[in-house]
Amino acid sequence: MQASSLQIADRAGLLTKGPGIRAMSLKCIFCKKPVFGGNGMTVPKQGPAHLVCFQADQALRRTFQHLDISALNDEELRELKELVLAEENFRSRDEESRSSDIELF
Ligand SMILES: [Zn+2]
Repeated sequence: MQASSLQIADRAGLLTKGPGIRAMSLKCIFCKKPVFGGNGMTVPKQGPAHLVCFQADQALRRTFQHLDISALNDEELRELKELVLAEENFRSRDEESRSSDIELF
């Protein structure tokens, strides 16, 4: 019987992400200082963080909802821009038709 891909990955060291990024580590992912209870939080899929560090990071980052816009490549950014423009057009058209409806009354 062959070893599962999980066992192979484990043997190759792919399942351990290296020192310092262990799941149990309670160091803030932003400032690397220990996170104590009360002012700490967990950033999904990333790790523990101070609330203030997280908020500072969010303010600096060009994110919208959960989308990190600065992480998009040029093609993806162009697509997003077109989507936004299309949505804007759609809404302004919608508003125009609504206001013209009102004028009929
Ligand atoms: Zn911190």
